[in-house]
Amino acid sequence: MKDTLKAKPPRLLGSNAKTLKSRGTGALVASHQLAPATESVPHGGVHMCAEASAGCAAACLKNAGMNVMPTHSNARVRRTLWWVRDPVSYHAQLNKELRAHKRKADRLDLEAWARPNTLSDQPGMAIQAATDNPDIGFYDYTKRLKWWAKHKDRKPENYFVVLSRSESNHERWLRMMRTGEWVGAVVFDGPMPDTYLGFPVVDGTKDDSVWLSPPGTIRGLQLIGTNKAKQAARESGFAVKTGE
Ligand code: SF4
Repeated sequence: MKDTLKAKPPRLLGSNAKTLKSRGTGALVASHQLAPATESVPHGGVHMCAEASAGCAAACLKNAGMNVMPTHSNARVRRTLWWVRDPVSYHAQLNKELRAHKRKADRLDLEAWARPNTLSDQPGMAIQAATDNPDIGFYDYTKRLKWWAKHKDRKPENYFVVLSRSESNHERWLRMMRTGEWVGAVVFDGPMPDTYLGFPVVDGTKDDSVWLSPPGTIRGLQLIGTNKAKQAARESGFAVKTGE
């Protein structure tokens, strides 16, 4: 991978199967994929998910579908190294692509949305992108609950954040959900339940339009990935078993 890492990645924004589903709700979603957790570290990068748990790192979407391909991993690492080493030029390019995304959404008569942390958990990067582009909606799933508990006033109006539960943040997640201010996300292993710990569950696999879910509800996600990844997510307690 070493030689190819020297070049800048061709594009910063793309789409994936999940974000494409949001077209049905009238939204065109751009997906921004950096290298999750420690993926870029052997190449000189940094840990991109400060509050990741062992279970979420194992069940991360990087282990599902096309994301497992070396070409995809290479592109994620190249973007991450660029962002770490030269954030000013990186954000200039990101803004250029976001402007093109907005123009395309306008042409298609769709709302422009972007998911800056599709495979990372960097609130500062997302806040900057949302602040620079106030006419685009942004959203992310995050496990940075300690960070958001301290900095929720920094969230721009056009940035929607969903709190993801894991085996290591469960108690804090529950406390924040009980304030009624947030939408949550839980990964289920088995049939989608109607409720979880008293919160209504909406099927979050049908689209990625999280901003349509009211505060106090949970986006239910299904455990996916390789058999090894799913086993690790089960054993760690990251995925919540249902249907027993
Ligand atoms: S925090 Fe999200 S992106 Fe990071 S390792 Fe966990 S599931 Fe993957």
